Amino acid sequence: MRIGYGWDSHEFKSGVPLKIGGVELAHAKGLAGHSDGDVLLHAITDALLGAVAAGDIGSYFPPTDPKWKGADSVIFLEEALKQVRLAGYKVGNVDSTLILAEPKIVPQAKKIQARVAELLGVKANQVGIKAKTPEGMGTDNAAIAHVAVLLEGAGKVGSAPNKSSRAKKQKTLKRRGRE
Ligand code: MG
Repeated sequence: MRIGYGWDSHEFKSGVPLKIGGVELAHAKGLAGHSDGDVLLHAITDALLGAVAAGDIGSYFPPTDPKWKGADSVIFLEEALKQVRLAGYKVGNVDSTLILAEPKIVPQAKKIQARVAELLGVKANQVGIKAKTPEGMGTDNAAIAHVAVLLEGAGKVGSAPNKSSRAKKQKTLKRRGRE
């Protein structure tokens, strides 16, 4: 079992679509960024990478690389999921808190939850989407996301046996030897 944590923030900007958790939300402003500025997917990506100690989003997709200009953040998330699989884990659950003044997230939370679950290959009840307004923080022109993830062993065939299964195998071999 592994735990991961991710955080991200993006500034609101006119003239770009607002994408949060892979869902386009109707709003006068979107989030500025080198990619599509999806603050939630970026924080989930970092949380997944952190859980398997595989670096961070910037080490795979440097903002200095023109290749990632306007990129769909789903690409970043898919790379993190690949790293999770390579390390022998799968997503147990994800919890998140969005902090933004506008728009209201609650009416859209179910849609975001369903899309994030779909992207992660888990059920909706394994994805927590919470939102708060930035009271007293002075960050009304930004969207912030905090994310925690729990990974479980994928139990892949061919993976190294754990101590107890090794012990069981030895017992079976001993027993067979006596028969
Ligand atoms: Mg970001």
